[in-house]
Amino acid sequence: MSESSINVNKEYDLICVGGGIMSATLALLTKLLDPSKKVLILERLDAPARESSAAWNNAGTGHSALCELNYCPEKEDGTVDISKAISICTQFEISKQFWSYLCKKQLIADPSTFVMPVHHHSWVTGDINSDYLRRRYQAMKEHFMFNSIEFTTDQNRMKEWFPLIMTERDPDEVMAASKIDRGTEVNYGALTEQLFAILEQEYNTPVHCNMHVEDVDPNEDIDWTVEVSNTKTGERLYLDAEHVFIGAGGGSLLLLQKVEIDEKEGYGGFPVSGGWLVCKNEAVIAQHQAKVYSKAGIGDPPMSTPHLDTRYIDGKKALLFGPFAGFSPKFLKEGSNLDLFSSIKLDNITAMFGAFWHNLPLTKYLIEQVTMSFDDRMNALRKFVKDAKNEDWELLTAGQRVQIIKRDDYEGGKLQFGTEVVSSENGTITCLLGASPGASTAVQIMLQVLDKAFPELTSSEKSVALLKEIVPLWNTPITEELFLQCLADSQSALRLD
Ligand SMILES: Cc1cc2nc3c(=O)[nH]c(=O)nc-3n(C[C@H](O)[C@H](O)[C@H](O)COP(=O)(O)OP(=O)(O)OC[C@H]3O[C@@H](n4cnc5c(N)ncnc54)[C@H](O)[C@@H]3O)c2cc1C
Repeated sequence: MSESSINVNKEYDLICVGGGIMSATLALLTKLLDPSKKVLILERLDAPARESSAAWNNAGTGHSALCELNYCPEKEDGTVDISKAISICTQFEISKQFWSYLCKKQLIADPSTFVMPVHHHSWVTGDINSDYLRRRYQAMKEHFMFNSIEFTTDQNRMKEWFPLIMTERDPDEVMAASKIDRGTEVNYGALTEQLFAILEQEYNTPVHCNMHVEDVDPNEDIDWTVEVSNTKTGERLYLDAEHVFIGAGGGSLLLLQKVEIDEKEGYGGFPVSGGWLVCKNEAVIAQHQAKVYSKAGIGDPPMSTPHLDTRYIDGKKALLFGPFAGFSPKFLKEGSNLDLFSSIKLDNITAMFGAFWHNLPLTKYLIEQVTMSFDDRMNALRKFVKDAKNEDWELLTAGQRVQIIKRDDYEGGKLQFGTEVVSSENGTITCLLGASPGASTAVQIMLQVLDKAFPELTSSEKSVALLKEIVPLWNTPITEELFLQCLADSQSALRLD
């Protein structure tokens, strides 16, 4: 990754702020559609993919709604709504198609370096939860995206699916589980690095590291001037760009607040940090081969859903349990303790206060999580692994998520758990806020950014034809036949069969 050699006299078509999966995806899509576009990528740390996109900083789940119960809420009439699940599943399939395209073009040699097949399960205990899981199963079974789902209340079957969780269970304990085989475990860090390697090798577009973007100002000649400081030398650079994408992860809000556009008004952020228990005992790691998601507690935020996951990181199988939430005022893991404080402005103070006031259960949840001792966390793990031993597990800090706070006419402000693209009216500056479902849906979100930034790249006859080849499920009605055909194609290209 390049540290210097930035051409300050060039007028860039696109400057991407941040070296995470979002910038990597956007820059590569842009270059695939129009190799003549002048793209520059700036990263403040000394390497890309070191914040949320790094493997140990996220859960590595290919979010496709196969196991995450928050995508299937219960309606008042007792039926289960799977519309969100359909949308998440579609978005992940679009990501898989993009990665498949790169494999088919031999730009990525070995997909197992970043994506592995790992069955996705939901697992709940008690009568009420088991009844919900059965109704979710019935609703999902009817839809072609999920009709391979299996359901059981039989503990012997569960023993076959996830033996580690079923060790020392009381045979009379009521529980239920579901399984979809085509789940994935994704190393988003390794993927991001490979996307950047393609940009460097095929398009001479490296990530420039140790480059902290300080500000983005309007400019009369072209559209934006990006002010950058070299964190090693202190040198200041001023770069011109027609379009700027702020893909700075948790750092996006702080930079957006400096940009002179009306659309930034009223946005705030609330940082939630996370942690995992990581298993150190190879014999225990070997006993689990699945991602098993349970149910978040009543009133707890969706990202608090506990799960026990098989991971593949640094070429090794791993076992992680969590997430445990934590509080830190930093917006990035490598951020400043002043981040939260400095994000409070006149235009968002009402929204921040409103969101805080209307989310007191979240505050309570965070306080409970922050005050958990190691033993408390081990006891939470023991709901999954009954005989878990303290000496086999250690606590690791995960990435920072900055949840979006937005103005709201009724409550002053509201907390939002998804992602949102904020852009200027003319689309020349775009910014991604929020963190969920995150990396899994990077391709769909970056196509949305591309559509705003360079509408000609998503609408001209030539690029539409290329996009149909790269992401056939994008922007098209999805029939069962098309979905199954595309699924078979990406499963094979990514060697997930
Ligand atoms: C605990 C946790 C669990 C998660 N689990 C999952 C999961 O299972 N599945 C999933 O799909 N997603 C998951 N996510 C979300 C996912 O990790 C993120 O959505 C995704 O990695 C965000 O990518 P990004 O490129 O926007 O940000 P990042 O990867 O954070 O990259 C942003 C980059 O911008 C740089 N930067 C910041 N400010 C500046 C600046 N001013 N100038 C230059 N560079 C700057 C940072 O150093 C960083 O490298 C999880 C996230 C967390 C925190």
